[in-house]
Formats: sequence, C-alpha cells, structure tokens
Amino acid sequence: MILKKPIVIKEKKLVINMVCAVSCSEENEQSDLFSNTMAVLLQSNIDYNHEVIEYDPKIHTFAFERNLIHDIDRAMVDDELYVLYQPKVCSNTKMIFGVEALLRWKHPVHGVISPGIFIPVLEENGKMHEVTDWLINHVCRQIMFWMNGGNEAFKVAINIPGSYFTSPQLMEMLKQSISKYEIESKYLELEITETSVIDQIENAIRAVSVFKEFGCTVALDDFGTGVSSLSYLKRLPISTLKIDKSFVDDVPQSEKDSAIMKAIISLGHSLKLKVVIEGVETEDQMNFLSQNFENPIIQGYYYSKPLNAVEVVEWVKAFETQSVAVS
Ligand code: C2E
Ligand code: CA
Ligand code: CA
Repeated sequence: MILKKPIVIKEKKLVINMVCAVSCSEENEQSDLFSNTMAVLLQSNIDYNHEVIEYDPKIHTFAFERNLIHDIDRAMVDDELYVLYQPKVCSNTKMIFGVEALLRWKHPVHGVISPGIFIPVLEENGKMHEVTDWLINHVCRQIMFWMNGGNEAFKVAINIPGSYFTSPQLMEMLKQSISKYEIESKYLELEITETSVIDQIENAIRAVSVFKEFGCTVALDDFGTGVSSLSYLKRLPISTLKIDKSFVDDVPQSEKDSAIMKAIISLGHSLKLKVVIEGVETEDQMNFLSQNFENPIIQGYYYSKPLNAVEVVEWVKAFETQSVAVS
C-alpha cells in the first residue's frame, strides 16, 4: 500500500511498480523454487502492478531459464562465469590433498547464481559441454599462473557432467589445454557422479582407464546417494571416493549414520582408494572422523569455504605455516 503512493524526493515524484513473486513446492522439489519465482518476474508480456503473484506453470513460461541459455555464451567471454576453489585437507598430516573447482555465475541482472540453479538448466539444454571446455581451459591457465607465480601447484578437481565424460571431445580438450599452458596431467582430477556412471558403465570403465593412462586421476562424487553398486565399484579404475555430505550431517549424533560412514570409509580403504569426506562443518564431526580413521581427507566449511584463486593460495600458506608451528 505504501509503495503505491509516489515517493517524493527533492520535489520529484518517484513512482514504483512492485510485484512480489511466490512459488510453493513439495519438499523434494526445492530446486525449482528460485527459477519458478524468476519465471514470474521475467514474464515480459504481463504487466503486474502492486500484486503478489503465485507461480502458475500454465502462465509463467521459463523466461528465466531461456535467459540463462541465451546469456551463457556472453558469460564465458566476459568472465561473468568464474571459479572458486575449495581445499581438501588430509586432516592428521595437515597436507593439502588438492582443491575442487566450483563454478559461479555473476549475472548482470540476477546477481550471483548458484551452480545448483544454472547447471541443471544448462545441462538440460545441451550447454554444459561448452561450459566444461571453458572450465578446463580456465583451470589449466590458473595452474600455470600459480606455478609461474612461484607457488606450489595443487591438484585441481573438475566436475564433469555424465553426458560428457565418455565423449572423445573431452579428451581432446584436456590434451589441448594441458599442452597450451604447459602443465602436467597429474594436476587434474576429474569428478564424475555415480548416477551418471551407472547408465553407461562399460563406456565409463573404458573412459576412466583412458584418463588414468593419460595421467589424470578420476574421483567418484556424491558416493552413497545413487545405486552404490559394489560390482561396478570393483571394476571402475578410479582413485578417489567422495562421500556425500548427507552422510556426515548427523554424525556423530546418529548412530546409524556414524556406522554407515565407518563402513563406507573402510570399504574405500580396502579397495585402496583415497576417501574424501565432503561437507564437514563442525568440531564434533572432525573429532569423530579423526578418532576413527588414520588420516581422513576432509573437504568442508570446517576448514574453508570455496575461495578465489588468490585467496586459496594465501589460505594454504597460512594453513601450512600454522601446522608446522603446532607440530
Ligand atoms: P558437488 O560437486 O558435490 O560440490 C560440493 C558442494 O558442496 C559445493 O557446492 C560446495 O561449496 C559445497 N560444500 C562444501 N563443503 C560444504 C560444507 O561444509 N557445508 C555446506 N553446506 N556445503 C559445502 P556448490 O559450489 O554450490 O556446488 C553445488 C553443485 O553444483 C556441486 O556439487 C556440483 O554438482 C555442481 N557444480 C559446481 N561447479 C560445477 C562445475 O564446474 N561443473 C559441473 N558439472 N558441476 C558443478
Ligand atoms: Ca564435485
Ligand atoms: Ca559431491
């Protein structure tokens, strides 16, 4: 009501049109909430004025998604797309195991959009292969910058969409970027999710072997959230297992989750795999993991949120200095 009246600033009248978009959803469909409200706001052919509008799929087509698909090419050229790096730490030896590259998009209209929003849209519309190529080039260039700046290079993990993992183009792109920036393949790890592997298991086994031969390690991401079939785990020549955050959330309070966590870590170790535990946030979780495992590899806010390329180097230096001082 207040906003309906013009606001007077220095004798000039300012008229504001307001619309409030609302989207409701079942608990398990939360990922659509943001894009549905954006679809209301971006419906260019309807002029809402001082109204509260609930998202209606019959009226509000996905203008937001169309915008993202349209804007992604510009985002790659203009560096609206950027990369953050989250450290993975071997918690007892205090060594840095590597970092994971995580995409962000600073959109001129929508602000910083989370990858959980824009990646599924780009994936559904066949744009993630190009974006992954952009990311590989960006990460290899960054590794070169780190090395040229006299810093130790980290192994950087790149998330690869399932649909791209078995494509020959991915190998071409890796070879090109590695040779362009004169870095070594051992600095790259490819992360694939178990759900994407299971649909094309024979091709995936072949692809993992080829990448391994080339010198890039492969990690199986979000382990435990999909089918977690032991028969394919035995056959895939991966080097790292990443345990999904959902298993650590209620550790150590939940006896069942603690037992599952112990079982998955033991399984990984007995298969001679490195095991990374994702999403560790609290001291209690860390104590549980350190007490039960010799040298758990931790990626989580307990150590650090994802950082930009400059911050991550400073973080690692500070962490290593602190660790030396303590030991
Ligand atoms: P993911 O691959 O499982 O990445 C880990 C996510 O967990 C990241 O979210 C990271 O910021 C978050 N995380 C790490 N530690 C903690 C913690 O202690 N607490 C909490 N609450 N969160 C933590 P982010 O960056 O929002 O990425 C979400 C997902 O988007 C990723 O999940 C991945 O599936 C996808 N993604 C991100 N970057 C890329 C990319 O470059 N390519 C592809 N294909 N997917 C990407
Ligand atoms: Ca990942
Ligand atoms: Ca994950």
